[in-house]
Amino acid sequence: MAAGIRVDMVVRESQRPGTKRSRAMEGLQRSRTMEGTSPRSRSEGPPQRVDANIALIGAEDVGKSALTVRFLTRRFIGEYGDIESIHSHCDMIDGREICFNIWDSVCPQNEGIADPNITKQLQWADGFILVYSICDRSSFSVVEQQVRRLRGQARTRGGPGATPPIIIVGNKRDLRHRRTVSSEEGRLLALTADCGFFEISAAENYHGVLLAFHGLLELIRETRALKKGPAGIKGIVRSVSAVFGRRRNDAKDAQD
Ligand code: GDP
Ligand code: MG
Repeated sequence: MAAGIRVDMVVRESQRPGTKRSRAMEGLQRSRTMEGTSPRSRSEGPPQRVDANIALIGAEDVGKSALTVRFLTRRFIGEYGDIESIHSHCDMIDGREICFNIWDSVCPQNEGIADPNITKQLQWADGFILVYSICDRSSFSVVEQQVRRLRGQARTRGGPGATPPIIIVGNKRDLRHRRTVSSEEGRLLALTADCGFFEISAAENYHGVLLAFHGLLELIRETRALKKGPAGIKGIVRSVSAVFGRRRNDAKDAQD
């Protein structure tokens, strides 16, 4: 694959008409009271557009940009730029237009260094993907710290239940012969911190990356539905059955 292509070029290629970077940046100022639905969806009924703001954080070199680019373009290009950016990507999922706005962080997030963007990201993001490399134990420690910080800051700002959904991703699974963090450790951290967990490889395939982003989307939608009360619960049931129905079909397709 064309090594040396810069992320910003790839992202421009991937954008569909009407999903310009400027629109993603507007998301930074957008009030969270909109609960992620566009003005069109609130006034005209279906098909609704749902916005999901997702922040990817983690230590350097764990593959945050690789995961973002894989999700946006299905490609793994090897080398990525270091531009702090928010990318927009819209897709039809279960008959709805879903617009992912993805904040690919580059700020130093190594062990012991507090990320200066975290407060801004907590205001902006509907959910977080915390990435570590399974071959880099210190990057796992960074994720442990980040979970604690996110949970702590969100609680301080909004009380219990205000913490955003989090998915923990152990990346670089293709390098398992160099593994220093076991799957069990990742899963245990996710379990104790009430997060989703995926161990995947941005280099190896697209499907795992897709599952991680869509897993977070499901959690975001559940959180929104719970905030809306009983009417929203029906939405959860519908979306869960849609996901499981789709997974059953995926599994069937894979067998065929
Ligand atoms: P970031 O600093 O977290 O954004 O990390 P990058 O996305 O820039 O990736 C850092 C390095 O790890 C690059 O050389 C990538 O090609 C490489 N990389 C990213 N994901 C994977 C993966 O799943 N497997 C392997 N083997 N390398 C990866
Ligand atoms: Mg990067």
